[in-house]
Amino acid sequence: MNEIVIISGKGGTGKTSIAASFAAIGESKVLADCDVDASDLHLVLFPTVVDKGEFWSGKKARIEEGKCNECGLCQELCRFGAIRDFKVDHLSCEGCGFCFHACPAGAIVMEDVLSGYWFVSETRYGPLVHARLIPGEENSGKLVALVRQKAKALAEEKALKYIVTDGPPGIGCPVISSLSGAAMALLVAEPTMSGVSDLERAVGVCNHFGIPAAVCINKYDLNEEIGREIERYCSQRGIELVGKLPFDEAFVEAISKGVPVAEYSKGSIRNEIERIWETIATRVKKQ
Ligand code: SF4
Ligand code: SF4
Repeated sequence: MNEIVIISGKGGTGKTSIAASFAAIGESKVLADCDVDASDLHLVLFPTVVDKGEFWSGKKARIEEGKCNECGLCQELCRFGAIRDFKVDHLSCEGCGFCFHACPAGAIVMEDVLSGYWFVSETRYGPLVHARLIPGEENSGKLVALVRQKAKALAEEKALKYIVTDGPPGIGCPVISSLSGAAMALLVAEPTMSGVSDLERAVGVCNHFGIPAAVCINKYDLNEEIGREIERYCSQRGIELVGKLPFDEAFVEAISKGVPVAEYSKGSIRNEIERIWETIATRVKKQ
């Protein structure tokens, strides 16, 4: 199957609206929400959970009271200041394990941490794999990898052609985790002051990992000068510009009504998103 990952150099570019619209338009696909720190695809897809599980990741220290002789060594050594009054503060503990090795009484244990949950759901547009990271917990890259692995297994099991992934914003570890091995990345750019540099950073990540990239400019008419700058950037770098979407109240109205904008808008917005989907789907099929 072909995995199309929708990303953007920063949040708030309309990435999820486009992913949800692909969900409404595309045939034969599994949907994956890899924005595990702030997932919101479910707000317009209204999933019914059919399977779920815990995501355990990383380690945190815990002091066993009965064994601790209160020598204070661990408190002195922890450079994260995570141990106070012979207790470990879970939020401050980075799980480095230094105290575990240093404790002369063997009173410190390193324990697995429940960091989040994964879900497989049914939606009116097909199956969705999504997840929720517990606030304050880390390793979102690993949770993204788990979501993708489950989406791939589901696509294979149901013989579906595409995985449509709503990726995380930015260029950090979760983005890298959501891109590796994908057939294509759709980069959603906005004509804002930082629009070109945000796009540049996202293109840099795709190039580094050898992922073919295409660009869609959202709200291109809000600043046509920067919009043209983005177009020039794409043309100079040989990156295909697959579509330009104008600013339209339909995006906000669709979110407030809980439907993908391509379903809410029957006019030009839907037509343009359909065209973008067809372009991308055809391109990944040829690869
Ligand atoms: S180093 Fe071990 S024995 Fe000493 S205070 Fe820490 S947990 Fe207790
Ligand atoms: S595992 Fe590392 S960060 Fe956590 S309490 Fe021990 S020394 Fe501090």
